Amino acid sequence: MNLVLLGPPGSGKGTASAFLSDRLGVPRLVSSELLKAEVKTGSVLGLTIATYMETGDLVPDDLVIKVVLKNLENIRGFILDGFPRTEKQAVALKEALAKRSMKLDKVVYLDVPFETAKERNLVRMVCKSCGFSPQPNERTCPRCGGVLVRRLDDNEETIKRRFENYIKETQPLVDFYKDENILVRIDASSPAEKMNENILVALGCR
Ligand SMILES: [Zn+2]
Repeated sequence: MNLVLLGPPGSGKGTASAFLSDRLGVPRLVSSELLKAEVKTGSVLGLTIATYMETGDLVPDDLVIKVVLKNLENIRGFILDGFPRTEKQAVALKEALAKRSMKLDKVVYLDVPFETAKERNLVRMVCKSCGFSPQPNERTCPRCGGVLVRRLDDNEETIKRRFENYIKETQPLVDFYKDENILVRIDASSPAEKMNENILVALGCR
């Protein structure tokens, strides 16, 4: 199955994509991790990306597209998390898949009211070493054993801005996938287990 996961910060997108990857036995490709990995290789592409990351600028569409498509080259079945972010990226993905007679099966949008997302973000911890954000009840990072810390920029104001930016930025994508008839909206305000179950049902895996 070829999936894209969309959802504002606090929607449980990371949790859902990790769960689905496990359950469906397909790799989960997180665009921010792919970009970091490309930087680490020291390639020309990686070095160019690094210059944007260092200044905190958004990495341009063309570069993000290059990196993600490169990682998709030999894969059949995937979950994309963090990509596409723009309509241009969505079109590039569609064309690249079509060339291999592939297509997206579904785009899952995790719908969550701001108040719920805010509560979740306020209790959110991230790993100091690898940046992973586990469930609130974890005491150390389940991925690498690292120390968990509060995100320093997680106050109400920044959470609200990140949330609103996400909704605004992804609206064209939501419309794009609605037109393609592959968008599924999932109520992400319920606890993770229930949400994951609802996604499986919506994907016809139940
Ligand atoms: Zn970690």
